[in-house]
Amino acid sequence: MADIAIIGGGPGGLTAGIALARRGVRSTVFERDCHPDRMPRFNPDRSYPIDITGHGLRAVRHIDAVDHFDAQMIPFRGIRHGRRLIDPWAEPGWIGSRGDIMRALMCVVEERHGDLIDFVYGSDVRLLDVHAGEVAGRRFDLVVGADGAGSAVRAAMQEQVEGFTVEASAVPNYGLLLELDHVGEELDKHYLNGLAVNPLVLAAVVLDESQPDGVRWVCVIGVNKPISFTSPDQATRWLRRNCPRVFDLTSEQAIAKFSRRECVHLGHGLTCSRLHGGRAVLLGDAAAAFPPVGQGGNAALESAIVLDQCLASGPLDTVGARFEAAWKPEADAISWIGGQVRYQNPWMFVRTIIASAFGVNIASQAKSSTRSYAQVQRAARRLGPLWAS
Ligand SMILES: Cc1cc2nc3c(=O)[nH]c(=O)nc-3n(C[C@H](O)[C@H](O)[C@H](O)COP(=O)(O)OP(=O)(O)OC[C@H]3O[C@@H](n4cnc5c(N)ncnc54)[C@H](O)[C@@H]3O)c2cc1C
Repeated sequence: MADIAIIGGGPGGLTAGIALARRGVRSTVFERDCHPDRMPRFNPDRSYPIDITGHGLRAVRHIDAVDHFDAQMIPFRGIRHGRRLIDPWAEPGWIGSRGDIMRALMCVVEERHGDLIDFVYGSDVRLLDVHAGEVAGRRFDLVVGADGAGSAVRAAMQEQVEGFTVEASAVPNYGLLLELDHVGEELDKHYLNGLAVNPLVLAAVVLDESQPDGVRWVCVIGVNKPISFTSPDQATRWLRRNCPRVFDLTSEQAIAKFSRRECVHLGHGLTCSRLHGGRAVLLGDAAAAFPPVGQGGNAALESAIVLDQCLASGPLDTVGARFEAAWKPEADAISWIGGQVRYQNPWMFVRTIIASAFGVNIASQAKSSTRSYAQVQRAARRLGPLWAS
C-alpha cells in the first residue's frame, strides 16, 4: 500500500492518479491552480486545440475513459487543407483544449475514484526532498513529478541528485492565437483545418458552453521569428498579406485582440539525463518538454500509464529504473521529432516531399497507436542527411 505524491494535476498527473486508483493505489495530487471546473473555460492565450490520437488513445483506453472522452470532447477525424483531406484519422480520437482534456479526466476521477485520490489545490510545491520523498512536510514512498515544463520536481532533482542534468534546446518556432468568430459552416469541427502553410495556420475548435453552438474556433499562426503589432490596422495588413484565408472567418474585434497578444516562443525543448532520482520520477512535460508537434498532451497521458504499468510489474524501490528504461527512449524520440519541425522553413517543404516519397512523415506517423515514437524516429533516421540534428 504505497503512499504516492503526484505534483501537478495536469493531463499527465490526473491520468497517473486514475491509473493508480484503478489498481486500488492511493495518491495525493498537489496542484498549484484550482479545480479545472473553476478555471475559465476559454483562455485566449492558452486555449490552443489539442488532438488526442494514437498515444493518448492508448492511455484513455488503459484508464477505461473512452466514454468520458466521447461525452466531453469533440470526435477527431483528421487533418484537412481546404477541401482536401490530407491525413484521415479512423480510430477513436478527440479534439479540445488542455482544459477540456482535464475536465474529461476529472469526471472520471469524481465518478469512480474520488475515495482514492486526494487533491490539494492551491499548493505550489517548491520545497521537496527528493531522497526522503518529503513534500510539504509529508513523507511519500514515491514522488511523481507531473508539474509540466517548468517542473519544480525536476529543479529539485538537479540540485539534489548527483549526475542529473538537463539540456535545453530551442528551434525558431513562435506562435500567436487568433480567434475565428465567423466560421459558420465554412470549416468542419471534427478536423484540424490547415488554412496556410507559410506561415503555418491551423484552425480547430475548443469547447465553450457559453457559445451558441458550444465551441469556439481558434487558429494558431506559426512563424519563425517573433511578431508584434503597433495597431489593429497593422495586424490586419499583416494578415491580409500572409494569411488572407482567415479574413472570411474572423471579425475586426478578434483581429484587434490578436494585435495586442504576445507572440509565444513555442520552440523550447528540455532533455533530462535521467527520469528518476531518489524517490522521484518525472513524466509528461516535466520529463521531456519539446516543441509542439501535436504530441505533448498525448505523450503526457501515455507516460502516466507507462509509469502505472511499471508500478504494477515490480517492487516500488526500483520503479524509477523500470520507468526510465521504458519511457526515456520514447521521451528522447519525441523530443527529436519535435526538434525537426520548423515553421516557415522552405527546406521543410522540400524535405517533407522527399521523406514522403520514402514513406516517412514524422508528424503524422507520431500519431500512430501501433508505432512507438522511437520506431518513428528510427525509420526517419534511415534518411540521415535529411534531418536538422
Ligand atoms: C501552442 C501549443 C500547442 C500545443 N498543441 C498540442 C497538440 O496539438 N497536441 C498535444 O498533444 N499537445 C500539444 N501541446 C502540449 C500540451 O499542452 C502539453 O504537452 C501537456 O499539457 C503536458 O501535460 P503535463 O500534464 O505533462 O503538464 P501540464 O499540462 O503543464 O500540467 C502541469 C500541471 O502542474 C501544475 N504545476 C506546475 N508547477 C507546480 C508546482 N510547483 N506545484 C504544484 N503544481 C504545479 C500546473 O499548474 C499544471 O496544472 C501544445 C502546447 C503548446 C504550448
